[in-house]
Amino acid sequence: MSDVTEALSRLVRDVPDYPEPGIVYKDITPLLADHGALTAVVHALAAAGRDDDGRTAVDLVLGMESRGFILGAPVALELGVGFVPVRKEGKLPRETHTESYSLEYGEATLEIHTDAIAPGSRVLLVDDVLATGGTMAATRRLVESCGGVAHGAAVLLELSFLPGREAIGDLPLLALGQV
Ligand code: AMP
Repeated sequence: MSDVTEALSRLVRDVPDYPEPGIVYKDITPLLADHGALTAVVHALAAAGRDDDGRTAVDLVLGMESRGFILGAPVALELGVGFVPVRKEGKLPRETHTESYSLEYGEATLEIHTDAIAPGSRVLLVDDVLATGGTMAATRRLVESCGGVAHGAAVLLELSFLPGREAIGDLPLLALGQV
């Protein structure tokens, strides 16, 4: 078993019926608290931003609020590029692009500063969990609204019983684990 697979199985906790009945929440906080595990997953996620020769193939890493911030910023440092936050509605102080999308219950809205991504920049999208894919698909649209190019997506876990991959279309996905 790889370090990453071992870390995910030992340090991501299933929390049944959180935040709602029927949802099994993936709690990554024990993994974040373990230096060896955090180092291993950040290194593995960064592979999604490299070409076949191991060179950095992106200009920026983007993370979605809030666990995408925790994982995305060290991935950006590992790749030697900057980090862009995508935030929930009303949190960014300057002019934004906005995308709304459906959740299992209700709607969510994400925003990015309009000048966060220089046109033509290649961007790696990082989050903890791909579930329905709505968050990742909306984030891709935000990148494209800025004139950027979504190079790929990287997550710790893909919930493969949900149609996340379908929702993100042709965006290449690196999932370190699947449930
Ligand atoms: P989705 O848009 O349905 O793909 O949901 C992905 C977003 O919701 C990510 O930002 C995750 O952090 C969060 N999320 C969705 N389902 C779960 C889950 N079962 N456990 C933890 N986080 C989840």
